[in-house]
Amino acid sequence: MKIIRTTRSMAAWSERLRREGVTIGFVPTMGALHDGHRSLIRAARLRCDALVVSIFVNPAQFSPTEDLSAYPRPIARDRALCREEGVDVCFEPTALTMYPEGFQTTVTVPVLARRWEGEARPHHFAGVATVVTKLFGIVHPHLALFGQKDYQQAALVRQLVGDLNLGVTIQVRPTVREQDGLAMSSRNVYLSTDERRIAPLLSQALQAGKQMIVGGMLDVAAIERVMRQTIEQAPTIHVEYLAVCDPDSLEPLSVVSAPAVLLGAVRIGSIRLIDNLLVKLPGGKSGLRVERGIKPLTD
Ligand code: AMP
Repeated sequence: MKIIRTTRSMAAWSERLRREGVTIGFVPTMGALHDGHRSLIRAARLRCDALVVSIFVNPAQFSPTEDLSAYPRPIARDRALCREEGVDVCFEPTALTMYPEGFQTTVTVPVLARRWEGEARPHHFAGVATVVTKLFGIVHPHLALFGQKDYQQAALVRQLVGDLNLGVTIQVRPTVREQDGLAMSSRNVYLSTDERRIAPLLSQALQAGKQMIVGGMLDVAAIERVMRQTIEQAPTIHVEYLAVCDPDSLEPLSVVSAPAVLLGAVRIGSIRLIDNLLVKLPGGKSGLRVERGIKPLTD
């Protein structure tokens, strides 16, 4: 496995392979890799001839009060996981390489970024959209994989790739969970034993909401009430939002019309956790098109 740290060598590597007709798969990450990342890497490995994983803790998507400097960076372990999964290149640019002096461009997707995570973290999605656009420009992949875990992010990436004709196929893979339902996240390591014990309440609340919809409940207020009550069993969890939304626009629904996506964010102590569940009714469209199988590149 090659480790590349400069944008110029990364771009040159990709261009050489593209000229040879090699298909390039790409999984952008911030490192501290877990089985959620692993599932994206495996799916990409199956579909592409060559595979690039980027590890870059992107300062532009953290606000000054967030955990940029504390974000876990177990680089040796991350590289080992990438080697194990047959990754060809681990792209590890520095912040200065990505944002040299004089850098001034920002990519925004204002409507999809307005609510939910965008409201809680005002500059977050501009940072995400900008870095994803840059990474696509450098790595120039045919296919890039994202996790449903970050539903709003995946929706925004799909939008920006279409709007800017970036020519990258986007595939969204299902959320990988711990046995008790907690969505895997690099931030879970921050949870104390007590916090970890109550953290699955978020996924349980979303499951409760999903069951109500599947059972025919159409009243969003009633669904949101049950989801909130599920979480409030533990007084130390603070609900930031729990919502039943249109799976494409992410606008809140007042009456459930499947498909829908249930979005949730909670705070336990100083740690924010997010999660979501898609609800499809039989024969309905599937919202963000979360792909469980592996499809051909030309889809
Ligand atoms: P991050 O390193 O947190 O920026 O995540 C990199 C990619 O991994 C993003 O596309 C995430 O949505 C995805 N990801 C993170 N956690 C999970 C998970 N539990 N299941 C599936 N994908 C995930």
